[in-house]
Amino acid sequence: MNTPLQQEDPQTYDLIQGEKKRQKEGLEMIPSENYVSPAILEALGSVFTNKYSEGYPGLRYYGGQEFTDRLESLAIERAKKLFRSDHANVQPLSGSPMNQAVYLALLQPGDCIMGMDLSHGGHLTHGHPVSHMGKLFNWVRYKTHPEEQGRIDFDELLALAKEHRPKVILCGYTSYPRDLDYAGFKRVADEVGAFTMADVAHIGGLIAADVMRNPFDYGFDIVTTTTHKTLRGPRGGMILTKGKVGNPLKAVELTRENLPTVIDRSVFPGLQGGPHMNTIAAIAVMLQEAMQPEFKEYAQQVLKNAKALAAELMAQGAELVTGGTDNHMMVIDSVASFELGGAELEKLLDSVGITTNKSMIPDDPRPPFNPSGVRLGTPAMTTRGVKEDGARRIAGWIIQAVQARTDSVKLAEIRAQVKEFSLAYPVPGIPS
Ligand SMILES: *Cc1c(COP(=O)(O)O)cnc(C)c1O
Repeated sequence: MNTPLQQEDPQTYDLIQGEKKRQKEGLEMIPSENYVSPAILEALGSVFTNKYSEGYPGLRYYGGQEFTDRLESLAIERAKKLFRSDHANVQPLSGSPMNQAVYLALLQPGDCIMGMDLSHGGHLTHGHPVSHMGKLFNWVRYKTHPEEQGRIDFDELLALAKEHRPKVILCGYTSYPRDLDYAGFKRVADEVGAFTMADVAHIGGLIAADVMRNPFDYGFDIVTTTTHKTLRGPRGGMILTKGKVGNPLKAVELTRENLPTVIDRSVFPGLQGGPHMNTIAAIAVMLQEAMQPEFKEYAQQVLKNAKALAAELMAQGAELVTGGTDNHMMVIDSVASFELGGAELEKLLDSVGITTNKSMIPDDPRPPFNPSGVRLGTPAMTTRGVKEDGARRIAGWIIQAVQARTDSVKLAEIRAQVKEFSLAYPVPGIPS
């Protein structure tokens, strides 16, 4: 039981080495990805992975919880402070189970919930027909106006809400380059008596740093966020609520005030068993990092880099969905810009060491595995220290790669430049 990984399992060891090299030598432009600090890696690899702790601090079904109780309470207190919520559940195993726990807490099978249309930026867990949640509930979708900078028409939303009487109005996105008008959603929800839920999985870090709007400032009931995107922590999810903290062992009525208890009971025992305590340790560290002034600087730089990247791409002929960005991401309409499908552009950029992902554009006529767009984001490169001048160079390589798409010599040259650039910005936790 004491053999180092390299000797015990050289195959797995080599794959880890390969992934380290890939991360070091390439540019990570997928907007949902980031790099954690060595401190977070250490917490994630800690002996908390050995421990079962079903239940909540002080209310567990197993003994030996002296340190897990203190750890989970620490994470909860930090999350509440950072997001200005009354309660936090830090146990969801990732973003998808976090949203499932909320839906299953608030809705009965067949109940109506409204979310953003998937081709307009909503997430798979927002009722995509292939997901179990899509089959379980009655999803009604609203759209954005890409010609008007992605604006949401709240008169249209209100008309839909009055017609369908949803129990929950969900906002939030995985592929939408603007901030949301939470006050508008809240107004509509109040008119029809719906709960308000914001899934800020992508922008949680930008909200924590107060560089984007916080839905709680507009009276929202529930905010969900992943912990591994702009928040820059381990893979996980958190559910933040307003309301009165109660005893999660006791069943309560579904009211606004009881939301903390209703949600806790939905996560455990409703949906999950033992939480991943090593992940919760890493979440605690992430939250501590997110309270530091350096994190705010990172978040501000993420936005500046996105503006610089978007402006340069547009200056060099790319068309962006909604005509720009107010957050950390942008979607290139690759068909309109270059007559290239999203899958083709993703593959081309992969060949020069720039990792992106294909993405739908609003009302996309093409299929999801080869849609009309590619999604780019700046969190990972910002964590490595890239600034606006670097963002503009990256835009240049993207356009050059498109122009040289059939010229393997030129593509190899671009690949070499991207590698040299990438190596100049070390990845945290990977020795250079
Ligand atoms: C990423 C994401 C999720 C799901 O997170 P996973 O950890 O991949 O399950 C949920 N909602 C939104 C809006 C997301 O972007």
